[in-house]
Amino acid sequence: MNVSSPRYSLVIPICNEEEVLPRLIARIRSLLRQLDAEAEVIFVDDGSRDGSVRYLRAMIATEPGFRLIELSRNFGHQIAITAGMDAARGEAVIVMDADLQDPPEIVLDLVAKWKQGFEIVYGQRLSRQGETWFKRVTARLFYRLLEWMAPVDIPRDVGDFRLVGRKAVEIFKRMPEHERFVRGMFGWMGFRQAAVPFERPARTTGQTKYRFWKMMNLALHGIVSFSEKPLHFALWSGLAISAFAGMLGAYAIFAWLLDTGVVAGWTSIVVIVALLSGINLFMTGVVGLYVGSIHAEVKRRPLYVIDRLTGFEEPTQATAADKSRKILSLGQDRKLG
Ligand code: UDP
Ligand code: MG
Repeated sequence: MNVSSPRYSLVIPICNEEEVLPRLIARIRSLLRQLDAEAEVIFVDDGSRDGSVRYLRAMIATEPGFRLIELSRNFGHQIAITAGMDAARGEAVIVMDADLQDPPEIVLDLVAKWKQGFEIVYGQRLSRQGETWFKRVTARLFYRLLEWMAPVDIPRDVGDFRLVGRKAVEIFKRMPEHERFVRGMFGWMGFRQAAVPFERPARTTGQTKYRFWKMMNLALHGIVSFSEKPLHFALWSGLAISAFAGMLGAYAIFAWLLDTGVVAGWTSIVVIVALLSGINLFMTGVVGLYVGSIHAEVKRRPLYVIDRLTGFEEPTQATAADKSRKILSLGQDRKLG
């Protein structure tokens, strides 16, 4: 068995998924039996507070090909995926959720497409079972909005369930941005891409880790890091409203000069002042979003911090300590651009 260079790497971010882990691992084992070549499975623990880490450490101790990266705290789903992809060595890297909403069996279809020569193959959600209508409607709106706003092709109804070939993984590793919207980053890359449609089942146990505000934040980052339209919108609507205010001012002066008795206009003044200051605040907010992302980038911190690695030892190659140092430094290297 050639442990040093598996053909496939599965990257699975974990955030408090204790309940689903036994079932997930059973499904993955059966997937591994059906794959045509060696695979490694990389779990990335994103600061779980339940027993996930204990469970995984114990399992990995007895199971070759399973590995665990423990991040030092919760860095968020998108960063956890990144940490896993940095460490993956397969020719094809597959990212999937832990909660079985991305059915492991679909990986076989992703692989089949990859073999047809597609560098990036994503799972496309046909239906979303067990999601509230609110999430469905907002997700739908968001994908349409993003499609309209972003100059790159970001496919609709695609989450982070995807297979990525080595070439694309290497490009991804060279993208140092902190505001990561992984699906957009792969859209930006180009290459031949294909979709594999699948029915997305409901979460089997546990709760979604994407609560309302987290979801909204992901959406905002997605738009801000892939589109300048909101800035253009701010500029043009600011200009249009200033022109309107200018005309109104001219009219007021004119009316005053002609002494048409305009003192009765208190209401309109209040309305206009409120409107203008509201728009002002909104535009400042839009600009602030972009300034915020610039701020995150200029700090040039590493994207994530690894606390502990399990299962990465390779007796045939470098010593275990060398190996962990190498992977540990991956997160830091990014800051060198
Ligand atoms: N996840 C993570 N860090 C987080 C939130 C989520 O690693 O801060 C993982 C989670 O364990 C799961 C995947 O990301 O494997 C998707 O999360 P979830 O199922 O909660 O999202 P949803 O399917 O509701 O969009
Ligand atoms: Mg889920």
